[in-house]
Amino acid sequence: MQALNIKGEVITTPYSFVATAHSLLWNGIAPVFVDIDPHTLNLDPTKIEAAITLQTTAIMPVHCYGHPCDVVAIQEIADRYHLKVIYDAAHAFGVRDNNGSILKHGDLSVLSFHATKVFNTFEGGAIVCADASMKHRIDCLKNFGITDEVTVEAPGINGRMSEINAAFGLLQLKHIDKALAKRFEIDAIYRLRLTSIKGIHCLSKAGEMIANHAYFPILVQTDYPLSRDELYQKLKDQNIFVRRYFYPLIADFPMYKHFSSAQSNNLSVAVASAANILCLPIHPALSDEDLERVIRVIAEIS
Ligand SMILES: *Cc1c(COP(=O)(O)O)cnc(C)c1O
Repeated sequence: MQALNIKGEVITTPYSFVATAHSLLWNGIAPVFVDIDPHTLNLDPTKIEAAITLQTTAIMPVHCYGHPCDVVAIQEIADRYHLKVIYDAAHAFGVRDNNGSILKHGDLSVLSFHATKVFNTFEGGAIVCADASMKHRIDCLKNFGITDEVTVEAPGINGRMSEINAAFGLLQLKHIDKALAKRFEIDAIYRLRLTSIKGIHCLSKAGEMIANHAYFPILVQTDYPLSRDELYQKLKDQNIFVRRYFYPLIADFPMYKHFSSAQSNNLSVAVASAANILCLPIHPALSDEDLERVIRVIAEIS
């Protein structure tokens, strides 16, 4: 936010990890929530324009589950209204569309390397930007503004990644292609076996892309015999820990719910998605037996 001098209001999605909106509030910026697209669960570009005011300075979409946002439509709106675009790309490591890396869009893309992500350094992340002067600015902000032994150019904090985390990440990079390939396999098996189950909807891939299969989200719909929470509990009882990711909506947390854009009638797709979503276990160490067991529990109920 400081690198781009963002102030006022920023348009964002309520359907994300709470960090997305916290990054705004923490910097004294008001989030303005806009509903999501029912197919990708990403910020719906057709609803952005109506939320723009004189205070709007930026758009902060999320490539949710690693599905690329409609980057062309979003940039077109941003250009027309002179807004910055900051992608929360926490889920999007390795994701490409037919124009290359998804991370090259917007003014900044911010990655998370937290332990739960496709590529991780235990803790850490990266910011991707288009030019050297922006990189210099970010480097200053994350290292007390120090540029050499005797020069302090700007105020800054200690936002550096530790050497040990970076070293761990370098080791992980050696195995990343294999890890992504294994995730691809698991994704294909889930899709094959779950698609025919009545009331279970697998989110489709958004157009032509190389995905990272960071998550396997399903929507548990009303024609499934159990509610989403009943299925969640049933799996948990058998030691299968699925996640209601994202639930609750960011807009429902106490520090956000008073914003007028946070009201549920403004966010009907996000509200419905948060009520029905489950993310199933997916990671390179998931055994065939465990994968089979997850599928069997879901299928046996139907
Ligand atoms: C994990 C995540 C974050 C936060 O990442 P940290 O590395 O913990 O800072 C932000 N946004 C989304 C969408 C995430 O999934």
